[in-house]
Amino acid sequence: MGAFTKQLTDKIYHFAKFPQTGVSLRQMVKFGQHPSQGVLLKASQFVSEELPIRLARRVVELDNLPHNLSQMPSVVKVKNWYIESFKDLIEFPKPRLPADLKSKIKDASKPTDAVQLPASHPNPSVSYSNTSKFHSVPMNHRFYTPMGDIDLPPEIAKYNKDFAKCLENIKRRHDPVVTTLAQGINEFKALRHKTIIDTEVQSFLDRFYMSRIGIRVLIGQQVALQTKNEPDYVGIICTRTKLYDIAMEAIANASFICEDYYGLFAAPKITLHCREDLEFMYIPSHLHHMLFELLKNSLRATVELYGPDADNYPPIKIVVAEGQEDITIKVSDEGGGISRSALPMVWTYMYTTAEAQPLDPDFNQTDFKAPMAGFGYGLPISRCYARYFGGDLKLISMEGYGTDAYLHLCRLSDSAEPLP
Ligand code: ADP
Ligand code: MG
Repeated sequence: MGAFTKQLTDKIYHFAKFPQTGVSLRQMVKFGQHPSQGVLLKASQFVSEELPIRLARRVVELDNLPHNLSQMPSVVKVKNWYIESFKDLIEFPKPRLPADLKSKIKDASKPTDAVQLPASHPNPSVSYSNTSKFHSVPMNHRFYTPMGDIDLPPEIAKYNKDFAKCLENIKRRHDPVVTTLAQGINEFKALRHKTIIDTEVQSFLDRFYMSRIGIRVLIGQQVALQTKNEPDYVGIICTRTKLYDIAMEAIANASFICEDYYGLFAAPKITLHCREDLEFMYIPSHLHHMLFELLKNSLRATVELYGPDADNYPPIKIVVAEGQEDITIKVSDEGGGISRSALPMVWTYMYTTAEAQPLDPDFNQTDFKAPMAGFGYGLPISRCYARYFGGDLKLISMEGYGTDAYLHLCRLSDSAEPLP
């Protein structure tokens, strides 16, 4: 593992054996509603236990990829970021709680239905010997058991703040992971003269990006609980996400990029059929990301079928259906569709029929600064986002006519987090 010590490597492999603990949208909202310093402390402790396990599992997986993929320079680069972040977390100093406080916390947060955890936490320094109650119940139970109001010393607030800074730093370090790993896959394809990646690599990438979303949600939530104070928000989750508004925003952004890219006076029209006051619990940025990607694809297909000089284009239609279980969003275009043989390929990473865009990790810093097309990540990543909260994304195409994309979002919001 290059510059890292064997001791660290061993620790990572040890951590990787422990199970990950999922957190649902509803749990996060329930837990973070009143983010007192005590609540934040508990969340910090949960995250400081959970993230090293998740990072370690990714390192082990990056170490053991098929066909020498693990040796590609960009893959090694990504792995080293995971190792560094793992190190940051396990070395982060724990807060010292005065003895009388420990018992107070213990009483205040005593769970009613405590269950003994079979295994201790992998990190001996996270023994919580001072707050051993954290080990008497499964992690996800701990996570949302409110702690009540206790007066905490100022050191705790400082710990919460410093830990959030450490998390922000990790999140920033991992910003270029998607583009860098994509580069690694390119290195691999060039070496093996392959145009399409195999199913083993494909499913690794699905797991990897799914896990990345989970990690970033945990970090984003922990940071936002301390910094974001907007009505209807609990951290990064909006309890009253207005689908109509997010869709309008995605329409404006996708249309703008389309006009810019093709030099159009006006992009194809997009109509939205949705109740204006429809609200549900979601992370608005995720919703925007998925709609934006679907709309760019539909706009591109439409413009390329009729040509950039066409007088008019058939409109793209967004229809929103509200069910008991799901909210389904259909994006329909008349952009000529996709052939049945090519349809499975659209879900593979790096598959694109657009001119390939140069991969510049510095350019694609955020998850949302996306090009019109050519990266081949729009659909597979959007499907990861949808599945992350229990939804799904499907494409039905009529070759020669157009494509319908169905985005299903689970409105019950208590589906278990997928933990690859
Ligand atoms: P990109 O847009 O960067 O190519 P995507 O994952 O978004 O990557 O899409 C992959 C490919 O799927 C596109 O290049 C295109 O060939 C095809 N595709 C996606 N959506 C549509 C659509 N609505 N109509 C026709 N083809 C589509
Ligand atoms: Mg796309």
